[in-house]
Amino acid sequence: MLVNAYGAHAGDQPLQPLQITRRAPGAHDVQIDIAFCGICHSDLHQVRAEWQGTQFPCVPGHEIVGRVAAVGVHVHGFRPGDLVGIGCIVDSCKHCADCEDGLENYCDGMIGTYNFPTPDAPGWTLGGYSQQIVVHERYVLRIRHPEEQLAAVAPLLCAGITTYSPLRHWNVGPGKKVGVVGIGGLGHMGIKLAHALGAHVVAFTTSDAKREAALQLGADEVVVSRNAEEMAAHAKSFDLILNTVAAPHNLDAFLVLLKRDGTMTLVGAPATPHDSPNVFNLIMKRRTLSGSMIGGIAETQEMLDFCAEHGIVADIELVRADQINDSYERMLKGDVKYRFVIDNATLAG
Ligand code: NAP
Ligand code: ZN
Repeated sequence: MLVNAYGAHAGDQPLQPLQITRRAPGAHDVQIDIAFCGICHSDLHQVRAEWQGTQFPCVPGHEIVGRVAAVGVHVHGFRPGDLVGIGCIVDSCKHCADCEDGLENYCDGMIGTYNFPTPDAPGWTLGGYSQQIVVHERYVLRIRHPEEQLAAVAPLLCAGITTYSPLRHWNVGPGKKVGVVGIGGLGHMGIKLAHALGAHVVAFTTSDAKREAALQLGADEVVVSRNAEEMAAHAKSFDLILNTVAAPHNLDAFLVLLKRDGTMTLVGAPATPHDSPNVFNLIMKRRTLSGSMIGGIAETQEMLDFCAEHGIVADIELVRADQINDSYERMLKGDVKYRFVIDNATLAG
């Protein structure tokens, strides 16, 4: 089946309209008409070949929401018309310890929604900047938000789960002090989720202009990280710092804000490495520096249900497909509140 999509033929070329094929749904597959797809900074890293191994043509997009169009004969959990989502994972080995623990995101055989090997043409997966996608039912999420919120639900499928998973893993809740570094797509969800989980939330931003907005998002305090005095006021006080920054920066400036046994977890994935932190900042207070990648399917469903229950969605700016390249430039300048979402109806031609 031929569908319209938006993608790039090389890392130094803009995205443009193209056509791709989707497989006919197999017995366990769900075929989805994509209504909206969020624009994640990872899409930009991948399509511009900032990360290694990008296959072209590359069609990004892993914050997918839409309606079920058809299901295979053995699919019993979904029916045509259901509101569903697809995040960053479309397949995994299904039997390793990680898959059995519901942490398919850490399976060595995880297949990402774009740029991962697949028997389908052209040999690598193609993502959600497209009209339709066909995915094994195991990786399909149910959306329980009201339909009018659907576009703003899309970013939960990556930005939401990538921040929810570490917040839950490190037991964030009442009595915990949590820092969120970088108020972009991931960071703004991190603030909303940490607040909803009951933590005391401090937002760190490089942009003085985001101060007021961070409070509106649910932060209890805001620190402009370039201001040494403001930073020093929080020394040795955090249980967890969730660092979403998409560029290399000074990690020590944040490590010294952790209290004894505190953890900073990196979810931002810059194209070039950070300078190594000063080990004394880890040794002195038994601090931990860690990382976290998206989340498993079960916890993604848990996050979606938590958000539906608490009325949480992303703050978005809806764009047409022909605005994707411009949206990338604006994302790089931090000129987005706080996630661009593509209206996939504009791929119709
Ligand atoms: P984004 O919307 O561009 O937000 C990143 C934020 O980081 C910016 O808004 C900015 O916030 C801050 N920032 C940017 N450049 C900076 C610099 N040079 N120094 C300090 N702060 C800077 O990006 P995103 O979509 O949230 O993604 C963030 C990163 O997470 C990307 O690298 C992405 O690939 C990665 N990611 C990882 C996972 C995972 O599973 N681990 C999943 C999704 C995305 P302020 O203006 O507030 O400073
Ligand atoms: Zn993403």
